[in-house]
Amino acid sequence: MNDEARPEKAEQPTGADKNTPKHEALYDRFVEKTNELFEKGQEKSEGAWEKSMEIAREQMVVAGEFTTEQGAVFKQYLRRDLKHTRTDMQKLGVSAKEHLNPARLGAGALSTLSRLLYATGGALLNLSEKTEGVLLYKTGEVTMAGTLTCISCDHVMQFKQTTVVPDCPYCENTSFRKGY
Ligand SMILES: [Zn+2]
Repeated sequence: MNDEARPEKAEQPTGADKNTPKHEALYDRFVEKTNELFEKGQEKSEGAWEKSMEIAREQMVVAGEFTTEQGAVFKQYLRRDLKHTRTDMQKLGVSAKEHLNPARLGAGALSTLSRLLYATGGALLNLSEKTEGVLLYKTGEVTMAGTLTCISCDHVMQFKQTTVVPDCPYCENTSFRKGY
């Protein structure tokens, strides 16, 4: 971690500008960092993953890359993205595995997560937790690549990279189902 190498930002974005690429890039970095820490560790459990997320969050807060609050929110996003990806892999079996094949994905959080899920050989797929209904993604949240389907009008948007969830361009609804 070399903080000195990071150039000083000319200006800090103020307010909640959802359209800056900053959030997407930060989220990708957060996922990558978490995965690096997880890969270095001996244990490949859910608990070890949680620990890796927490260390990654702390490091990025200390480095001034994001605030404590933002880090906490990113952990929620990542927990959900992992859960969703894992559930899809379980439910869809082979077709999801083809879809989420790391070789087919570019850079970014989705690629990192699917590499992780392949590498752990399903260790992280064995979860006691129940999936409580459909996970909804809301406007303004950050999520990995994939599709977002408007729960109101069924309009589907495809994202090839990590993105901040927009409003539905057709009905301005703010809740979506995620797919790949
Ligand atoms: Zn809609």
